[in-house]
Amino acid sequence: MSYSLQSWGRYPSHPQTAKPCYWRADLQQTLADMAAQHGTLLPFGNGRSYGDSCLATSGHALHMRPLDRFISANWESGLIRAEAGVTLGELLALAIPQGWFLPVTPGTQFVTLGGALANDVHGKNHHVRGTFGCHVPRFGLIRSDRPPLVCSRQENAELYAATIGGLGLTGIIEWLELQLVPIRSSLIDATHVRFGSLEEFFVLSAELDPKHEFAVSWIDCLARGKSVGRGIYMAANHAEEGPLVFANPCKLNVPLTPPFSAINRLSLRLLNSAYYGGHRDGRHNSRISYEPFFYPLDRILNWNRIYGPRGFQQYQCAIPEGNAAAATRELLDAIAAAHSGSFLAVLKRFGDVASPGLLSFPLPGATLALDFPQQGEITARLFSRLDTIVREAGGRLYPAKDAHMSGADFRNAYPAWAQYEGLRDPVLSSRFWERVTT
Ligand SMILES: Cc1cc2nc3c(=O)[nH]c(=O)nc-3n(C[C@H](O)[C@H](O)[C@H](O)COP(=O)(O)OP(=O)(O)OC[C@H]3O[C@@H](n4cnc5c(N)ncnc54)[C@H](O)[C@@H]3O)c2cc1C
Repeated sequence: MSYSLQSWGRYPSHPQTAKPCYWRADLQQTLADMAAQHGTLLPFGNGRSYGDSCLATSGHALHMRPLDRFISANWESGLIRAEAGVTLGELLALAIPQGWFLPVTPGTQFVTLGGALANDVHGKNHHVRGTFGCHVPRFGLIRSDRPPLVCSRQENAELYAATIGGLGLTGIIEWLELQLVPIRSSLIDATHVRFGSLEEFFVLSAELDPKHEFAVSWIDCLARGKSVGRGIYMAANHAEEGPLVFANPCKLNVPLTPPFSAINRLSLRLLNSAYYGGHRDGRHNSRISYEPFFYPLDRILNWNRIYGPRGFQQYQCAIPEGNAAAATRELLDAIAAAHSGSFLAVLKRFGDVASPGLLSFPLPGATLALDFPQQGEITARLFSRLDTIVREAGGRLYPAKDAHMSGADFRNAYPAWAQYEGLRDPVLSSRFWERVTT
């Protein structure tokens, strides 16, 4: 049986022919068979990467999502072992009632454990806990050129470091161990603060980030002049008391792709003004379920369809601390001047917890992420301007979200790539890797 898959941004459009794998015992043979048939292939998790890093050069993907079993769980220590296709949501459903939570979570729970490790994802608590890979002591790896391996800081240490943030190219992650964090409640204590400018954001972040495990800001990407960078700062900690309840997020669905993008200059201005204006001045505290804070977008299934048939791209960069304020301002100025961007614009600070991953994205500083409807030349011109700002500030782009970065920018920003290339499995290849290394 085979079916078609694509990336979350639906740009570039290269539908993948998927071969599902249901049994771990079949992985090595399936890898060999697919390599013999198609030359190269790529493991595919749940397709929540935006650009082309989850698209196989050959168009043939080994679909890991059906490998969704838990292998062991120690509820005394919080160490779980699970197959790579288990999603973060499936893990939360099991772990929360036992008093455990994910150490690091991206903004969607529809991500697989294997995909989270392969992109070494970060969450709203990077300044406290670093990336996902920091909490994965061991994993099993299947390669085409040797028998199955166990990787940890002690065993096969080079492949351990290369696979964390390794973009699925060092082998198939078969299972992994994850160290969860204890919680007393599934509620969180959240603080919302409306701020009027980018300068205010940096002041707030310096004051409140150290007092909270989680921090993130929504930015009004159309604001100009003195208001550039205005937005809503949100910080939170796990609550000390309350129920331990898993919250199922799926509420609405976008059933069809509209013929054009619903995100345009007018709808964006209306949405941004309404959201900003909907928050009052001052600091507001509330005790709420973890789910709307961590996963607001998961409430609308298939929301990526609202960008129409051409899809969309996300631009996510990290800027080193010393240049963060100035470069972020330049980026926001350029985006507002182009009347572009989307409602989904996020700014947060990264901390200095080092990742074990060779190609991990975060660096100490700030990260800005925005979605853009795909508009051909218009998008390309704006991205070229943004790339120059990021390059000159010594920053870099996130491969998990990327569909346009030049090879020179990638190789400059990720100097470990050449060492990594020597550890890549020869039969694994993605469109992203081909684009940035040739
Ligand atoms: C709404 C939304 C919010 C997001 N928020 C964040 C965020 O806050 N922080 C963040 O870091 N990211 C974020 N992301 C991106 C997302 O977390 C990553 O792209 C994640 O890696 C996707 O995982 P996936 O299971 O869907 O894998 P896919 O997207 O299918 O694949 C991702 C990569 O993993 C590889 N891979 C998948 N499974 C395996 C395996 N078993 N073995 C080896 N390689 C494998 C693939 O080859 C590919 O290179 C967000 C995405 C969305 C849609």
